[in-house]
Amino acid sequence: MGKSTLFNRLTGTRGAIVSAVAGTTRDVLGGAVEWQGRVFALVDTGGVIGASLDPMQEAVAERVSRAAATVDLLVFVVDGREGPVPADDEVAETLRRHGVPVVLAVNKTDDRRARDRAFEFHRFGFEPIVEIAAEHGLGIGDLLDEVVSRLPPAPGQAAAITAAHETDAPPAAETRIAVVGRPNVGKSSLVNRLLGEERVVVFDEAGTTRDAIEIPFERNGKPYVLIDTAGIRRRKNVREIAEKFSIIKTLDAIKESHVAVMVLDARSGLVEQDLHLLDYVLTTGRALVLAVNKWDGLESEAKEKMRADIKRRLGFADYAELHFISALHGTAVGDLYPSIERAFNAANAHWSTNRLTTLLQDAVSQ
Ligand code: GDP
Repeated sequence: MGKSTLFNRLTGTRGAIVSAVAGTTRDVLGGAVEWQGRVFALVDTGGVIGASLDPMQEAVAERVSRAAATVDLLVFVVDGREGPVPADDEVAETLRRHGVPVVLAVNKTDDRRARDRAFEFHRFGFEPIVEIAAEHGLGIGDLLDEVVSRLPPAPGQAAAITAAHETDAPPAAETRIAVVGRPNVGKSSLVNRLLGEERVVVFDEAGTTRDAIEIPFERNGKPYVLIDTAGIRRRKNVREIAEKFSIIKTLDAIKESHVAVMVLDARSGLVEQDLHLLDYVLTTGRALVLAVNKWDGLESEAKEKMRADIKRRLGFADYAELHFISALHGTAVGDLYPSIERAFNAANAHWSTNRLTTLLQDAVSQ
């Protein structure tokens, strides 16, 4: 149907953060898209029709409802060359009942026949209909215009839309730490280690106010909250993980934090996803600590390569303190706290107008 192609077109526009949840039959993808100054998270719900290799596949209506329940707006992609098929009707019907805003995109309209048939989709009752050709990049701007004009005015609601660009950090009564990174880099292991430190007193039950779990604790008499995107009390099953749209949780957790501890995986090396995530932390204006995990038992050659990669590709974040750790064995994990403290203090420092003016003048004259 071209949904994946469209997804790539949309997230490929600029600064996309794309995260795949591996280990599922269909990877669930999420990406950040910026258009007309608006940044929003785009999730690929996985095809609702066809691709039924999944023996556990639910009824179309159920899948559509589930997708609709987690988003603020839904782009319904149909195949113009095929024209409306019964499954489209089923999807449309469910969406109408659900009441989620829908932008209907008729794909493959580079084909004349498809263009001629586009009007047939009007009977679904979604207006307007945008004609696109994902493969050729046609109509993508129009589609984004429609999407952005229909987004709810205030960004930042729990699940769907996330504003990048310096958002205000939460009040600094406690230090809020988000542990972020792509799947399998060792976030859960690290969270457990950070909380397992002997000087840490974890308070009762974790709160789950938003999509991530918030764990309040105290260390050396100081209050902290750990925002856990991996979910230490996971993991029921693969499907559940897939459906949590972890990229949205991650973006949310970053926004809700003062300091992001970004976990990298020394074994798999630096990948594009790491850079995108990092970019998001920086755009949001959060303080940053880098933790290169799985440093245990690594060949010295691999260590060298990782160090070099970091130097070469993460130069733009070289102000962040860098740690080589093993969450598995707990090596160097304790060093993260002082770094978190310093990053927090640096990010929350108050500077006088005079000092700022001087700094700015210096910068300009240089
Ligand atoms: P998450 O998906 O980011 O939460 O990652 P997990 O904490 O679940 O870890 C993913 C896998 O990496 C698990 O099999 C862990 O045992 C393993 N792992 C995590 N940290 C380390 C580490 O420091 N060294 C090694 N060798 N393996 C690790």
